[in-house]
Amino acid sequence: MPLFDATTLLLVIAVFNGFMVLVWLVLARLFRIAPKASLLLAAANLSSLPGMYCPTCANVWPEALGPWMQQLPLLLSLSFLSLGVQRLTRLQFRYGPVLLIGGLTALSMLSLNSAGLSDQAISAFAFGASILALFCARDVLMSGRIGRRKLITLWLILPYALLILLLLAQASTYLWFPSATHWFVRGQLPSLISAWIQLFISMCIGIGLVGVLVGRLVLRITHMTLRDPLTDTLNRRAIANALLPLQAQVERGQVHSLVMIDVDHFKSINSNYGHAGGDAALLHLVGLLRANMRALDQLGRLGGEEFCLLLPHTSLADACRVAERMAQAVRSQTLQWGEQSIPMTASFGVARCIAGDPSGEQSMARADAQLYRAKASGRDRVCSEAEDDSDAISASGFLRPAKAESP
Ligand code: GH3
Ligand code: MG
Ligand code: MG
Repeated sequence: MPLFDATTLLLVIAVFNGFMVLVWLVLARLFRIAPKASLLLAAANLSSLPGMYCPTCANVWPEALGPWMQQLPLLLSLSFLSLGVQRLTRLQFRYGPVLLIGGLTALSMLSLNSAGLSDQAISAFAFGASILALFCARDVLMSGRIGRRKLITLWLILPYALLILLLLAQASTYLWFPSATHWFVRGQLPSLISAWIQLFISMCIGIGLVGVLVGRLVLRITHMTLRDPLTDTLNRRAIANALLPLQAQVERGQVHSLVMIDVDHFKSINSNYGHAGGDAALLHLVGLLRANMRALDQLGRLGGEEFCLLLPHTSLADACRVAERMAQAVRSQTLQWGEQSIPMTASFGVARCIAGDPSGEQSMARADAQLYRAKASGRDRVCSEAEDDSDAISASGFLRPAKAESP
């Protein structure tokens, strides 16, 4: 057997696809990573195997059955691939179009049936399969909109584009140029060029999809290391990191501010409504804070019921206005928790990021000092550096809440 004939190449594809079956099964069952997508992709690789294996042992099958054993498993494989890619890219899962195209293609192959597969049946297969490949390409492209580099998305789409071209070329050749079908098939085997292209496509699709999965894992791990699990706000480390570029910009004359926020008497919320009530109160607070901040502002939980809000390109006076709006929202929008309503207030300390503090530690400490001044002067209010000497009432007079301290 020569080293690189079509039979050898088909065997290489079969071995690679068999290996990918194991990879996806290990990911789905052992590591439970994207289990549904991984199982569908294992099924895609598994169902492609007869299509690779059968032509290599053509004499095992009656001649009339051979082509069926090649095309139908490939159609099934592409249907599973299309569903698996959909799951993996986390787009809305719709199996209807895939079943429809797969089913219609199989039916038209059956209806165009003659002894073995007729040229029209092979055309129908190639056309239907190209639509399934198109579904995959569309899903990879759509998922690429979310934070993936364009070049990587292009590379991921390349094998699907090649597959679509190959299948469309095959469909039209079988339909209109039957004398040129030797470009695709030699007897029961694919032509050498077609086998090479299939090998390239199989490997690129397999490796690309594992890459998509790894990318998803990396995103999830990054998210976990930078986020607070309860409130999904940034954690202390992420806030400290986010403050660094702001402090660097302050050195170049930009104006940024930050706000420290602490729920008043949170211990009594916990003791009156239990820890679950306390957690619900934290989520409620975060919802109110988010509703009053811009997309470029960053909110983080420093621990317990203490939060830090970074306000880029915001003067101290504007930051005070934002904080006051938030204090008003917390004060007025009582949390409804089951049958009970949980009243809440919070205290706010506002500071401006100042130069000569590359780590931002001093800025945070100064906002913290203002927060504790707000606590000491009665809670449920906003204190800022500008009004250090005015007992928590800002120069513009918008800071002091009407309500007295709650117990
Ligand atoms: P102050 O008005 O002075 O801020 O009073 P406080 O009761 O809010 O004081 P403190 O900051 O000491 O209380 C924080 C409480 O928050 C103590 C802790 O039991 C509770 N806590 C910390 N983390 C969590 C959490 O994740 N969930 C809940 N439910 N409670 C938490
Ligand atoms: Mg508190
Ligand atoms: Mg606290």
